[in-house]
Amino acid sequence: MAVITKRKRQYVEAIVAKVCDRCGLHAESARDWPSVEFNEFLTIRWTAGYGSLLTDGDTYQADFCQKCTQEMIHPYARVAEKGFSWNPSNATLEEIFPGLRKKRGD
Ligand SMILES: [Zn+2]
Repeated sequence: MAVITKRKRQYVEAIVAKVCDRCGLHAESARDWPSVEFNEFLTIRWTAGYGSLLTDGDTYQADFCQKCTQEMIHPYARVAEKGFSWNPSNATLEEIFPGLRKKRGD
């Protein structure tokens, strides 16, 4: 089987900044890479259904910075999956890479 290639000019649309809908915080993706503020934004998007208190069929979206998420959402949220409860800077290599010892034959 042969592979046929062709050069194509493509345009890629990327999110380069986010603005908090509550406090107006502006976070750019590339300015302070890795941008914690940019990466920790919460985006909520939903469509109201029949019988909703909102307008039936309208799709809503909101973006919140991590500080606003902590203040508004976190008090009502539960932990669905446990994250890192240990401090990675104090972890051993075996804790970070469990298969490391076996691969090295130790
Ligand atoms: Zn905010």
